[in-house]
Amino acid sequence: MDLRKFVTVVPDYPKPGIQFKDITPLMNDGEAYKYATDQIVQYAREKEIDLVVGPEARGFIIGCPVAYSHGVGFAPVRKEGKLPREVIKVEYGLEYGKDVLTMHRDAIQPGQRVLITDDLLATGGTIEATIKLVEELGGIVAGIAFIIELTYLDGRKKLDGYDVLTLMKF
Ligand code: AMP
Repeated sequence: MDLRKFVTVVPDYPKPGIQFKDITPLMNDGEAYKYATDQIVQYAREKEIDLVVGPEARGFIIGCPVAYSHGVGFAPVRKEGKLPREVIKVEYGLEYGKDVLTMHRDAIQPGQRVLITDDLLATGGTIEATIKLVEELGGIVAGIAFIIELTYLDGRKKLDGYDVLTLMKF
């Protein structure tokens, strides 16, 4: 299936110069959403993963159906102040300033094989921070899966040494 026709490119959103890749049409189409999910489930099987981890909010949309279909759990990565119990934190750089991502301290059992999911790989900063959280909790990053990779931003450089699956490149 050609997934490209389910991605709408929105020029100058949320800021001038950004070509926003909107995946809501893909999620909106049952066949396309299932097809994309099934590709990542197949990857999860090959990597023998025990847990899916994804950053808010689109990492949940991709990761939760994969976790359900593969029969493993899902652990959310969230912005500071959103998780109710004891968390670990990592600070990461944004284009302007910094942000903080958190996970519950008991979200991963040491040695669990983790699949990280998100909708899109841009600069790789979000996933680099997510990897730090997973590894600090003793998880093994067995794979990282995205629907879209923006190859011109070279985000893969930050993920050097990790196995990365992307379903579409722009
Ligand atoms: P990054 O940390 O730079 O890899 O980007 C992280 C997140 O920002 C991705 O998970 C996307 O949800 C979002 N994002 C960045 N650039 C775009 C874009 N051009 N279109 C849609 N989402 C984007």
